[in-house]
Amino acid sequence: MPPRHLADLDLAGRRAAVAGLGDKEFRAGQLSTHYFGRLIRDPQRMTDIPATARGRLAAELLPTLLTPVRQLTCDDGRTRKTLWRLHDGSLVESVLMGYPDRVTVCVSSQAGCGMACPFCATGQAGLTRNLSTAEIVDQVVWFAGLAAEGALPDCPDRLSRVVFMGMGEPLANYSRVTEAVRRLTEPAPGGLGLSARHVTISTVGLVPAIHRLAGEDLPVTLALSLHAPDDELRDELVPVNQRWKVAEVLDAAWSYAARTGRRVSIEYAMIKDVNDQPWRADLLGRLLAGRLAHVNLIPLNPTPGSRWDASPKPVEREFVRRLRAAGVAATVRDTRGREIDGACGQLAALADERAAGDASAQSRSDEPRRGPGANASRSERKAAQ
Ligand code: SAH
Repeated sequence: MPPRHLADLDLAGRRAAVAGLGDKEFRAGQLSTHYFGRLIRDPQRMTDIPATARGRLAAELLPTLLTPVRQLTCDDGRTRKTLWRLHDGSLVESVLMGYPDRVTVCVSSQAGCGMACPFCATGQAGLTRNLSTAEIVDQVVWFAGLAAEGALPDCPDRLSRVVFMGMGEPLANYSRVTEAVRRLTEPAPGGLGLSARHVTISTVGLVPAIHRLAGEDLPVTLALSLHAPDDELRDELVPVNQRWKVAEVLDAAWSYAARTGRRVSIEYAMIKDVNDQPWRADLLGRLLAGRLAHVNLIPLNPTPGSRWDASPKPVEREFVRRLRAAGVAATVRDTRGREIDGACGQLAALADERAAGDASAQSRSDEPRRGPGANASRSERKAAQ
């Protein structure tokens, strides 16, 4: 695991850590105000802390966890993907998306992922390791700083939403992810002060963890990656379904909704001729009718070498029409960041390693989408399977 960082600890833990270093406890509050309140991490700018203490405290409580290796932008700078190198060389990605009314960051909770969904780029590489609480929080704080500098044209300068839809299965890294949510939602200087309603945890459907999350008193939005309404197909698309079936995972979702009062988001990647048939829309409609749920259809972002494609628009429209006819709310998700491989399911940092060899942080938005290097290695790996 990476070195300890103040975002791993609550305020009391930070005070104890500072006291353990022989410093005055209130310095923990000062450091926290810089990091969470002002989004400052450079010790030289923390002028209310004596210069002698600054370096030591920063080294102990604000170690560098994420080094940007590569940054890509599109949508006139409103979508930004960053590839980070972690202290042990693992690579993860996060994506910042600016809209006229909100700024959202999509964070990774693990390096790689062990859930092996066959249509997802991250799923192809397997799990490297869990991220620490601070490695998750720091992705958000870093982007919150960027937004505060006005880096996103015509967007608010306050980051307001976090979605755990980057690399990894958040509920497979349960304690660090829930701790990260506490840090993100505690008011400054304890944390970033975001609204829990504006934090979304997306899961393949780890049923015991969904029940546990419902009891946490963290009313985050739950997104369930369903992708098929029947076990036969879901066993293939979301292999964890072999353990927890559609009926069971939906029961867990409904108890989450009942417990938190929060509408569950049902994620459904539209895959041509695989899960987009009218009968599947009708079946999904019957499963969801009358429930506190909303369907988010995601046009499939085909991973290189994949045998699957996105559903044609008329098929997608008919799917939406049938869901709505069943009384189920459904929308098609905006696929931000496609041209920088930053859209849903495209994050695959391991495959980007070769392309990131120059190790310099730079904008590559001028490059063609399927550049050499990264994608070649991905398709090679696919072909080898
Ligand atoms: N492991 C979590 C979160 C990560 S992925 C989960 O599975 O929910 C976030 C969403 O993107 C999930 O709904 C996932 O199924 C979807 N996704 C993955 N690959 C995709 C692809 N190639 N095209 C469209 N959506 C994809």
